[in-house]
Amino acid sequence: MKRRDFIKIAAITSLYACAGQSCSPEKKKLKNWMWLRGGQNLSDAELREFYRKLKDDGVHGVLPDGSNEFYERVGHICKQIGLEFHAWRWTMIRPGYMKVHPEWYAVNRNGESVVKHPPYVNYYRWLCPSKKEVEELLINDYTSLCNIEGLNGVHLDYVRYCDVILPVALQPKYNLVQNHEMPQFDYCYCDTCRSKYKAEYGYDPMKLKDRAEDDEQWRQWRLDQLVVLVNKIAESVHKTGKQISAAVFPTPEIARELVRQDWERFNLDAFMPMAYFNDYNGDLKWLADVVKRDAALLKGKAGFYPGLNLGHVRKYGIEKVINVCLANGAQGVTFFPGNEFSDEDWLEFKKIAYK
Ligand SMILES: [Zn+2]
Repeated sequence: MKRRDFIKIAAITSLYACAGQSCSPEKKKLKNWMWLRGGQNLSDAELREFYRKLKDDGVHGVLPDGSNEFYERVGHICKQIGLEFHAWRWTMIRPGYMKVHPEWYAVNRNGESVVKHPPYVNYYRWLCPSKKEVEELLINDYTSLCNIEGLNGVHLDYVRYCDVILPVALQPKYNLVQNHEMPQFDYCYCDTCRSKYKAEYGYDPMKLKDRAEDDEQWRQWRLDQLVVLVNKIAESVHKTGKQISAAVFPTPEIARELVRQDWERFNLDAFMPMAYFNDYNGDLKWLADVVKRDAALLKGKAGFYPGLNLGHVRKYGIEKVINVCLANGAQGVTFFPGNEFSDEDWLEFKKIAYK
């Protein structure tokens, strides 16, 4: 296979601007988000205090995980204090149906289902995007969230296939050198995908074996399955008058190659591409290139708030990293995990938020 497209990103040298300088973003245009884990055990008063602090420190929108019941509480508080709120819920990883509907789950090129053979990590229990039942499940779930008072939108995550190739810096963790698509990480070859594809193109993709990686038609078909699914969810959410956003891979090129996620074609209101530079052995120049690429793509079409991993950002300093994003076209940033900010982190964050 030819060299992967995402390598080209690294070759773009002219896009880097403003790292380490003060770029004076216009405050009125800035919107910052936080992915927030936990909080369910806090009382309403504690939760309100936490959210008010976020607002006071320069956060405009929150992406908390949790149950529908928790979201009822969050919606009420966010409405009171004027925070935007998108409910963060994983899309394709949903382990809860494995016992009742094992046939809804993805199967790899070795014919193994994630139900019995989860790839890489135990929580990797991916649904197949081609099945009508999966589509109904996801549409019903996300639209049910839209009835919650104070909720502005829903937020998709893991809205992709399993990593057929891991980000380069993560491969050694699994003792892997992924210079080609290995069958145990290549999805989906379930009966539904195989028969639907065969009906359209006249051959069974399972028969491609090691040639599967070079079959552009089969690759494209799988990208399309996910795009169609996401856009159906988006259409249903939009009908309720709410918004839809997502955590996606750093650029469409990287996303297509690593996780078969063609997010360039997702009809969403906002994108939070996870520009987790350590995972790609990237530095601030890598970040600048990636942000500039996405900004050019999304300008005027959707909100763009690059995702930053707090653990990766601290070595450069929060202010410096946010400035790189803003200087290259971001409308704000999204931090993971926002609930792990230290007092020191907040002091730095506020310097940007109140510029
Ligand atoms: Zn399938």
